[in-house]
Amino acid sequence: MIPLAVPNLSGNEAQYLQECIRTTFVSSVGPFVDRFETELAAYCQANAAVACASGTAALHTALHVCGVEPGSLVIMPSWTFIATANAVSQCNAVPWLFDVEEESWCLDPRKVFEALKRDCDLRDGGVFRKKCGRRVSAILPVYTLGHPADMDAFREICDSFSIPLIADAAAALGASYKSNGLGKMKADLSCLSFNGNKIMTSGGGGAIVGNDEALLSRAKHLTTTARSGADYTHDEAGFNYRMTNVEAAIGCAQLERIDAFVSSKQQIDQRYRNALLKVKGSNRNRGESVTPFPLASWAFSNCWLTGVVLETGDLRDGKIVAAFHERGVGARPFWKPMHLQSPYAHAPLEPTPITDALWPRVLTLPCSTNLSLEEGATVIRVAEEVLLS
Ligand SMILES: *Cc1c(COP(=O)(O)O)cnc(C)c1O
Repeated sequence: MIPLAVPNLSGNEAQYLQECIRTTFVSSVGPFVDRFETELAAYCQANAAVACASGTAALHTALHVCGVEPGSLVIMPSWTFIATANAVSQCNAVPWLFDVEEESWCLDPRKVFEALKRDCDLRDGGVFRKKCGRRVSAILPVYTLGHPADMDAFREICDSFSIPLIADAAAALGASYKSNGLGKMKADLSCLSFNGNKIMTSGGGGAIVGNDEALLSRAKHLTTTARSGADYTHDEAGFNYRMTNVEAAIGCAQLERIDAFVSSKQQIDQRYRNALLKVKGSNRNRGESVTPFPLASWAFSNCWLTGVVLETGDLRDGKIVAAFHERGVGARPFWKPMHLQSPYAHAPLEPTPITDALWPRVLTLPCSTNLSLEEGATVIRVAEEVLLS
């Protein structure tokens, strides 16, 4: 089976791991963590990075340091991986779920702006949703598929309502917005994941990147048990969200090759696009027809995941995915929205026509950075066979 997206570990990973073992620095102390934070910040064009145990831990910490308090609302897209909503829950806050825009599949700034104007009161220095009286404590766009949200629009909204802007950039390392890297995309803080299926991995891990030294040093303090002195003195109820030296060692080796990973993802995406657009034009009348994933004019996507949108089909009965699997291709459906997940079925929800129409038709195709040309050809052949004949 050609897998969907697996790690590519053929660089210095083994050497750096050996070094961890030789020096016995396998846990929370060791030089790779500092090195990873420094190199990651530089790559993201950010002032600083705080390495964390996971993308979810990074999101929880970022929301917390930006003032997301129990009972408040965090505006986010319904269509995301469940970790986005779970991080909000970990702050004892409540997700307020919105639709995405067609152009980017990311949170729609116009719908957010309208809801803030129409459904909220400005009082006591805060923004309160009239219907439930809860304060809106943050806006949390998600960079779907590694494609940035329209961040200029969100910056304007957040400035005019004085609401923190946090980006779930979990899978978007290497993406840019109007030629700016993650650190310059105007979120107060951006959160990354280095889980095994992302564009690069540290085994498991995440990071918060940004430019506000005060927020980032508070995040570092909290993720490392809020220790204020050498001898078991702590000044806050902190978290144990440290990345280990072993994880950072893998992360450092991966980061050395991030440019190659991004260009490999781009090439795979381009190849599927070319093959499937051609197919679309010539096969209109036989079987399924497909369209590509979005690429907004202002975005450079890292193409973390690539695939096709079925024009009329529906993946929910599992038949199409099973047909790919029978032919050795590990295609998969994509995220099921939060309003259809039992933990978030009762969260405040705006209408989601675009999400509802899209998500059952999005099929992701194998796109590991080390996918061979031959494997890519197999994916295209099988896609034509399953979807178009
Ligand atoms: C992967 C992912 C996360 C969670 O990251 P973990 O490291 O698995 O905790 C959060 N949000 C999005 C959009 C993701 O793709």
